[in-house]
Amino acid sequence: MTAAAFPTVRFTEGATPLEYLPRLSAHLGGPAIFIKRDDLTGLTGGGNKARKLEYLAADALAKGADTLIGLGATQSNHARQTAAAAARLGLHCVLLLERRLEGQREEYYNAGNALLNRILGATLCDEVPAGSDMAAAAAQLEAELVAQGRKPYVVPGGGSNALGAMGYVGCSQEIRVQSAGLGIKVHAIVHAASSGGTQAGLIAGLGAHRGTTVRGYSVRLEATRMADIVRTIAQETAALLRAPVEELGEIEIDDSHIGSGYGIPTPEALDAIRMLGRLEGILLDPVYTGKAMAGLISDINAGRFSRGQNVVFLHTGGAAALSAYASWL
Ligand SMILES: *Cc1c(COP(=O)(O)O)cnc(C)c1O
Repeated sequence: MTAAAFPTVRFTEGATPLEYLPRLSAHLGGPAIFIKRDDLTGLTGGGNKARKLEYLAADALAKGADTLIGLGATQSNHARQTAAAAARLGLHCVLLLERRLEGQREEYYNAGNALLNRILGATLCDEVPAGSDMAAAAAQLEAELVAQGRKPYVVPGGGSNALGAMGYVGCSQEIRVQSAGLGIKVHAIVHAASSGGTQAGLIAGLGAHRGTTVRGYSVRLEATRMADIVRTIAQETAALLRAPVEELGEIEIDDSHIGSGYGIPTPEALDAIRMLGRLEGILLDPVYTGKAMAGLISDINAGRFSRGQNVVFLHTGGAAALSAYASWL
């Protein structure tokens, strides 16, 4: 089976571009770097949650839902894309956000994705404290909405279950077709990892066709825990595809670019944001893609990837949060 066997609603027209980055590649003096532009997916502001939501929103519609419940941190791209998906489909959206960072500047709580959520018409619950059990809080919210006669659908955190990860099975297929079109062999796909669905989907999608490494730069959890989460979702995704689970191989996670914690920019991530802006005119973000690019740069400097290899940086989005981090930049 392929990802195309499962129902979707389309939020992106056609494939996102796979582009060569000549100036960045020359600047770093290592492998040829390509970028998969999932920051250009079709849901407001783009990002990797759009592919997951194509499957999850179809599931919600099939179940007769009238409301999407979205979960995330204050500046969650996932919550904003869930709000956008609901708007596109004429559904209500209720967002349950975790105040994972205290003591930030006013803009952190009001600009960026927080602003977009309001424009997109989402209903915002009071933020819950950092470390709350979000699944339990979502279940309680779901029960309250049911009691009011609504038909809510809880979108899992980050859209990361087997069905959501199917979006990245599809993306791996796109990369395979596009890289063949460019006549290149992809040695590695690298990207930011947090709730695990992106990496799990890529791994399940590449399956036995490996030879391409998938390297996740964790922005939140230490490597062992992150790898456990990715492995579990990848196995569930492979099972849904009726693909052999034993061929998934190693889960590669680098957790050395988290810095002080989730959502707190590192100097290297801020440098990477400026570097991509100035060399290629592409916007990264301080929470995810800036840290992932900092990881790729340090891996190239350490000789992990070398001249003659082709590395695909999967741009998972996030620039919608930039204005919330204005003072850092
Ligand atoms: C959610 C997110 C990620 C992480 O993807 P997961 O599937 O949750 O691991 C990476 N980058 C951006 C911009 C995101 O919003």
